[in-house]
Amino acid sequence: MTLGNLRDLYQQVILERYKKPRYKGKTDPVHRQQRGHNPSCGDTIELTLKLNEAGTQIEEVRFEGEGCAIAMASADLMAEALRGKQVDEALEMVQRFQAMMKGQAEFPQELRKLNVMQGVSQFPVRIKCATLTWHTLKAALESPKGAQAAGFVSNE
Ligand code: ZN
Repeated sequence: MTLGNLRDLYQQVILERYKKPRYKGKTDPVHRQQRGHNPSCGDTIELTLKLNEAGTQIEEVRFEGEGCAIAMASADLMAEALRGKQVDEALEMVQRFQAMMKGQAEFPQELRKLNVMQGVSQFPVRIKCATLTWHTLKAALESPKGAQAAGFVSNE
């Protein structure tokens, strides 16, 4: 497969996720809730998380929001990848994603779907679109249990 074809494939996955997201909506119940905004593109996102009873493991992540294909596809792929992950693991994934956007890392085999976003690292103006959902996740996980959704994470 040539690099061009590979890029097309990644683009296809991103567009497919944008048109038919699998994790749109809200979790029931909502254990964590966080809004995020990327002013440079106008993307907004609201994440809701369902955790296990101890609050140490992510059972489900859903998102609502509006934005470009990259922001929405990134949120959908993230929500899928986080199912069943420990909170600690999820925070490591945030760091890995940020490193990937600098061209310094990628995800291992079991999380390889997230590597679809790797191509975005070549377009610096779009990196904030891809990382918005991860920034928002980090804030959601670090907010105290039962906190109100008053916080608004800005990606700037
Ligand atoms: Zn965007």
